[in-house]
Amino acid sequence: MNTIQTNLSKRVLEMEESATIKMSQMARDRKAKGFDVISLSLGEPDFDTPDHIKEFAIQALKDGYTKYTPVPGLLELREAICTKLKRDNDLHFSPAQVVVSNGAKQCINNLCMALLEPGDEAVILGPYWVSYKAIVELAGGTAVVLNAGISQDFKVTPQQLEEVLTDKTKFVLFSSPCNPTGSVYTKEELSSLASVIARHDSAQIIADEIYEYINFTESHFSIGSLPSVKDRTITVNGFAKGFAMTGWRLGYMAGPQHIMKACSKLQGQNTSGANAFGQKAAADALLADMGPTKKMLEAFKRRRELVIELLEDIPGVNVNRPMGAFYIFPDVSSFYGREIDGFAINNSQDFCAFLLEKANVAVVPGVAFGDDNCFRLSYAAADDQLKEAIRRIKAALV
Ligand code: PMP
Ligand code: GLU
Repeated sequence: MNTIQTNLSKRVLEMEESATIKMSQMARDRKAKGFDVISLSLGEPDFDTPDHIKEFAIQALKDGYTKYTPVPGLLELREAICTKLKRDNDLHFSPAQVVVSNGAKQCINNLCMALLEPGDEAVILGPYWVSYKAIVELAGGTAVVLNAGISQDFKVTPQQLEEVLTDKTKFVLFSSPCNPTGSVYTKEELSSLASVIARHDSAQIIADEIYEYINFTESHFSIGSLPSVKDRTITVNGFAKGFAMTGWRLGYMAGPQHIMKACSKLQGQNTSGANAFGQKAAADALLADMGPTKKMLEAFKRRRELVIELLEDIPGVNVNRPMGAFYIFPDVSSFYGREIDGFAINNSQDFCAFLLEKANVAVVPGVAFGDDNCFRLSYAAADDQLKEAIRRIKAALV
């Protein structure tokens, strides 16, 4: 190591770079070199923020929402969040039990920092969103990853969960609809998982519901609404996906008041309240017309059919039928151990490097999400781009 590297903390040296962000940067770099790259790597709606929400922000700026806000968020936003959680999720909170942060990512970071002591275990249901493990470890906790492959629709069973819960388990963390698989746990499945968790005194739940509005089953269910776990669940959500507001950096969570107070204390020393006019616009958005969100859902649903049909047509690519989000997570392990065009493919990283180089398509290796058999493709892209990308993937593989 050179001196510059030894300058850095062990914490950051040991941390892995976010694979989603790394891959999208590699795609940008390759594009800048003149290659015609199609990037299906970053999980970001290709739609712009709906106009009425932009208008809310412009009005908020004109109305002077330009100052620091309370650290846990504007009261009117936390009130709107409580209204929304009651309306959509049967979750009943007061504004003192809500914290607004710079994205759902910061909510999860706050929670891990507030809850984990060295030696504490965070059980992560896999395949899992890439940053969960890194954030848990940064906070000093031990990540215990449970894996569910494509044969079980990427969903962990209560038996699997039972086997790993101990008195060291601080919380169980998962997303549903899930990034990276698009799987949605049903109400019955969530009830069974909740029953297992409720038998362990120390175990809480962090339910990441950021893809709530991108659910093709048409009935999102919040695990925190179950009486057996309602006092020990923190529900995380945000504006990035359902309202196409990734760049606004606004997320929120609701849960036991002492935990929210601790997160607010942390945030007060780190970043303070999120940006003021964005919060005002977000409050208005939660209570306004959901038409644009429903239109986006329809587009994602149509594209899901498109990508399934096209991917199923590639021999050796195994796909399931995700019920939410905008990802598909094909199992491509049948290609491992093969050499194509002089390129040895032995794992998901090789597979994705091969696709970037030979097909100019950027997707993310499954290993970053805890499943090396798969890769993640985001279908939050125009139909033409999706068709062309999968045509190129097929041409490279077959
Ligand atoms: N959770 C999941 C499951 C995600 O996919 C993402 C990525 N956007 C986040 C949290 C973070 O969201 P935000 O952009 O609000 O920080
Ligand atoms: N969550 C999105 C993804 O998984 C955005 C990138 C990130 O925050 O990691 O691609």
